[in-house]
Amino acid sequence: MQLYQSQQLKIYNSLSGKKEIFKPISEGHIGMYVCGPTVYSNVHLGNVRTFMSFDMVFRYLKHLGYKVRYVRNITDAGHLENDADEGEDKITKKARLEQIEPMEVVQRYTVDFHNILNTFNFLPPSIEPTATGHIIEQIELISTIIENGYAYEINGSVYFDVHKFNETNAYGKLSKRKLDDLIHNTRELDGQSDKKNPQDFALWKKAEPQHIMRWPSPWSDGFPGWHLECTAMSTKYLGEQFDIHGGGMDLKFPHHECEIAQNEAAKGKSPVNYWMHANMLELNGQRMSKTTGNTVNPNELLSGNNKFFSKAYAPSVIRFFNAQSSYRSVLDLTDDGLLASEKGFYRLMDAVNLLNSLNASSTSSIDILAWKQKCYDAMNDDFNSPILIAHLFEAAKFINQIKEGSETISADDLELLKKTIYNFVYDILGLENTVNTDSGTDKLSGAIDVLIKLRQEARANKDFALSDKIRDELAEVGIQLKDGKDGTTFTVN
Ligand code: AMP
Ligand code: ZN
Repeated sequence: MQLYQSQQLKIYNSLSGKKEIFKPISEGHIGMYVCGPTVYSNVHLGNVRTFMSFDMVFRYLKHLGYKVRYVRNITDAGHLENDADEGEDKITKKARLEQIEPMEVVQRYTVDFHNILNTFNFLPPSIEPTATGHIIEQIELISTIIENGYAYEINGSVYFDVHKFNETNAYGKLSKRKLDDLIHNTRELDGQSDKKNPQDFALWKKAEPQHIMRWPSPWSDGFPGWHLECTAMSTKYLGEQFDIHGGGMDLKFPHHECEIAQNEAAKGKSPVNYWMHANMLELNGQRMSKTTGNTVNPNELLSGNNKFFSKAYAPSVIRFFNAQSSYRSVLDLTDDGLLASEKGFYRLMDAVNLLNSLNASSTSSIDILAWKQKCYDAMNDDFNSPILIAHLFEAAKFINQIKEGSETISADDLELLKKTIYNFVYDILGLENTVNTDSGTDKLSGAIDVLIKLRQEARANKDFALSDKIRDELAEVGIQLKDGKDGTTFTVN
């Protein structure tokens, strides 16, 4: 019996606008696709927030006993500077500016992305496909869409015919937009585009002569459209229909809307049962975005080397901060918010660290089983991590009370409490038992003072072998003792 058989998970589905009971297509298995980064610059904390939210989703689904195939792609070609299929490819542009190969850009920022994810204790996805590794699949998909009459070729580029598609299918069902409104709201093309209508989007673009990233196709030497890449990769690894598709809220339109249209046009099926959108991270009240430059990079926040924040924060503190609000809420990154989360995180960890020193009694004065189910209920309610954290703080309170003797816990309940806390804190929220460096330094100073006193006692007893041993062995680990007229002090290298 797997845990998911006794828990009822509900997921907010952006397509229906409701929380729905989650039922996978194939019992016990889940296919989940999350749009990955476009690797043309360092990821900022906004990107990290979205991936962190889906890391928590992945962790919880696995914890429930599902066999999850989690596919998160790397966009390494085809993402143009604006959504109207105009402008330069983001990676090509960066390569031109830095005078390096586009694949050097891709390599550099893919490595950066992976390093950041490791720092934040992310689980790797099951498959991490790249767009450039799936050009053949994309060409096949375009051919099918053309054969089915939903795309047209002009001057070597292929466009999806949104108007034609809308005659038989509803374009805009995910973002709740109507084609008529889109027609009124889209600016007229400047005459440079070959598209029949401004709402159409590129499936294949003919490469300009100077464009380095190009592949042969039946239509031209060119490159695929960004929306098409995700359809090709999700279909290849998860099938024509799969369970969960995620991404940041800003991808709902046009990116995800186009993914639905492409799949319906090619396969006659809506690809995804549950669409999940993670909300945006703001920095001091404004959307964090590469384009506007209102960003802070993870390393700047971790090192404290930035103009926004008063100090450095540990990766787990940032994870905790993120989990303290729902993945569907806008989250504002502020110094006050981080300071409060840091305090809360270490308070929780202090309680977790007390668990092994608790003594069991013959009976429990607390209903641990009921408390445990409340934790699951929170996560079953569309991954409501802030409510889960409230229950973890409740546990922190009774851990302290058990320690002080005002509450009791039986041996069996103590085991259950430990297992549940470790599951939620480490496995599901992905937190690590980080030492609070502020109070850690105090404790270290205290410990060195104890050694200094022992050394003084040894010297008073003329046990110079011991006093030298204490001094030398401390020096070996980088702690230098200095004897002065006011006593012994120390420095740490
Ligand atoms: P990109 O590399 O721009 O394609 O973005 C990668 C992921 O980060 C996408 O899922 C975006 O929706 C997400 N993203 C971008 N900006 C933010 C933000 N400020 N807050 C949360 N997620 C974001
Ligand atoms: Zn995508």
